[in-house]
Amino acid sequence: MTKTVSILGSTGSVGRSTVDLVFSQPDRFEVQVLTCNNNVELLAEQAKKLNAKKAVAANPDVYDELKGRLAGTGIETSAGSQAVLEAASMPADWIMAAIVGVAGLAPVMKAVEQGKCVAIANKEPLVAAGPFLLEAARKAGTTLLPVDSEHNAIFQVFDRERPEGIDRIILTASGGPFLDWTREKLTKVTPAQAVAHPNWSMGAKISVDSATMMNKALEVIEAHYLFDMPPSRIEVVVHPQSIVHSLVEYKDGSVLAQMGAPDMRTPIAHALAWPERMDTTGRRLDFSRPLNLDFRPVDVNNFPSVSMAYDCLRTGPAACVAFNAANEVAVETFLEGRIGFLEIADIVRYMADNAGKEQFSCIEDILLFDKSVRRRTKSHIIKVQDKNPLSGRAS
Ligand code: MG
Repeated sequence: MTKTVSILGSTGSVGRSTVDLVFSQPDRFEVQVLTCNNNVELLAEQAKKLNAKKAVAANPDVYDELKGRLAGTGIETSAGSQAVLEAASMPADWIMAAIVGVAGLAPVMKAVEQGKCVAIANKEPLVAAGPFLLEAARKAGTTLLPVDSEHNAIFQVFDRERPEGIDRIILTASGGPFLDWTREKLTKVTPAQAVAHPNWSMGAKISVDSATMMNKALEVIEAHYLFDMPPSRIEVVVHPQSIVHSLVEYKDGSVLAQMGAPDMRTPIAHALAWPERMDTTGRRLDFSRPLNLDFRPVDVNNFPSVSMAYDCLRTGPAACVAFNAANEVAVETFLEGRIGFLEIADIVRYMADNAGKEQFSCIEDILLFDKSVRRRTKSHIIKVQDKNPLSGRAS
């Protein structure tokens, strides 16, 4: 039986891997719609390769180019944010939600309301609007399939039938490229260094998040919502090899881990084929050579972001939204070379601490609050730079 699939954000890192996996088993999948932000050249190529019904760009300015590239193919085209929402609402058995950042929130919500399977690759919508997404999934009977490697690992070893037997979940963190760096050295990290991750090949934003461990912090919030676990029962452990992708500890002391080579094709394939399995050409673990697995606690002085996530969960949803929004702005500013590496966490902490205790009644409220945090983060950054003119200068 073929599965109808849609990929929201098909030209990003996860999107491209999903396209490759779908293409590897053409008899198994039928593609409904692919969306991108700007990259219509790749989008058109993917749409032709997968024989998609429709291709949609979020940026309306690239519509003519998209239309031109797909002229005569019979593939429908459209553009604009409304068109992306319509794409997310197109019926499909399985939808990959891989739109970067909080921009993915409204489309994910539409996808979840369909009542089928939604693979969640971008963590920001869960961090900002976890309770709303979970509630919408529960109402519609939608299965949320985590693609983030840690949450996918937990999903694979988490006994959903008997969650009362679970004591805690343990997220592993590679520690990023600056694991053993001194604080002094960390002040001089450049954007190019932060973007080069030792184990995973990922987009720029998530690579910086991995280097600051903000990625793990966001994953703590993501896990809290996805697995309905209180913060006190979520732990983070540094595991530099990125082979154990996360663990679940049961009441009797058993700890179940999901392992594999650090290759995003594995969790994506797991979600795509779920509840079945599919072949991939992804990397495999090689047990014919020595294989070491190291674990150690997080260095909370150099990487304060993880403990900040716990504070946000205790403070409430506004702090979680602010935490994510301020981080997106701070990472952009860092990538532009305008602030230093360690200032990312300082800025995020300031914005999360001053987020207030607003409660949200719908995702529109969240998006408005998110926008206001972004505006305030930008002015806060300017104020900090005025006070300390050397701050952030490339050295
Ligand atoms: Mg992850």
